[in-house]
Amino acid sequence: VSDAVHTLRAMVRIPSVNPRFEREPAEHTGEAGMARFVAERLDALGFTVDFDEVYPDRHNVCAVRAGRSERAVGLSVHLDTVPTGGMTIDPFAAELRDGRVWGRGSVDTKASAAAALEALKAETADPRAPTLYVLFTCDEETGLGGAAHWVANPRAHPPLVGMVVGEPTDLRCVTLHRGVYHVPLSAAGKAAHASMPERGANAVYRIAHAVTRLEALAEELGGRAPHPKLGTPCLNVGTIEGGTGTNVVPDAARITIDRRLVPGEDARTVRREILSAVEGVEGLSLGEPTFDAPPFAVDERVPFVRAVFSALDQDTGTPAPFATDASQFQAAGVPCVVLGPGESARAHTKDESLAVDELERGVDAYRVVLRAAAELCS
Ligand SMILES: [Zn+2]
Repeated sequence: VSDAVHTLRAMVRIPSVNPRFEREPAEHTGEAGMARFVAERLDALGFTVDFDEVYPDRHNVCAVRAGRSERAVGLSVHLDTVPTGGMTIDPFAAELRDGRVWGRGSVDTKASAAAALEALKAETADPRAPTLYVLFTCDEETGLGGAAHWVANPRAHPPLVGMVVGEPTDLRCVTLHRGVYHVPLSAAGKAAHASMPERGANAVYRIAHAVTRLEALAEELGGRAPHPKLGTPCLNVGTIEGGTGTNVVPDAARITIDRRLVPGEDARTVRREILSAVEGVEGLSLGEPTFDAPPFAVDERVPFVRAVFSALDQDTGTPAPFATDASQFQAAGVPCVVLGPGESARAHTKDESLAVDELERGVDAYRVVLRAAAELCS
């Protein structure tokens, strides 16, 4: 069994479920164990490691290793996972069976983390290694919080030629994905006895009107000119709640909205669109977003992106079906390619697992990418 498999299994045994998933037992949540693990490994490879607190006891791990260049090659991977409820295998046993490592995070995205650490181990053994910058983020799965913090609270680091963002892309270069905007919409009313509805104001009726308007907006979005690779923007009303009893006129009701953005759209325009769709419905208030990731689309002519393509013998980028930290880093002007071992279809599943040979190919891919990007650093 290779070092990469050992590393991946060690990581899967460290629970790191994002604590915002409230139903997960507390002892499985938080990124602290993973942060310590990667920090120790990076320290052993000669990196200077810095813990940047994002939320109480939840850190980004930033690490620099000076090499032969002024500018640095960046590599970023998130530390958290989705919850384990409903899983049909032991999420943290990291069983090795049928040529696969099984457990939560084995694909998304401890596969990338293990491949990155092994690739860094190999490349830092070479005295010609470039300056390297590694960023492990917390809080990716529920809103890219760690990456957003990194952008909003910049700490000193060497200038970056670009950043590889590790996610399960089946080792295809991902250069674009849609943005995500999650927002709650509430309706206020006035409670009254159901036998005298004229004395109240029904918040459920109000939210229902809003839902109908949003359904029409969703239809309109689907008719817009599609982006060549990402299709049209879309909108979904995902949850609805309201009322306290059948015999009470409800004074509160609430929905949550998921809006996917294509390049050219931003949170402000999306918010304005929602507000204008529901204009005239009484008692509504649109809350603060709970997930706000801009669309990601890197210019494929940028030298860093071209270097990654040619290292992997790929000639164009593919879209990802999910949002990533790359959309935040892009906002800070860092060119990114999302790349890592494992199939996205196996991420977040009840029996998540990664084939050992995919992991080995991931280590090789990161090594050639680091070497190709190093050429741009001097
Ligand atoms: Zn991920």
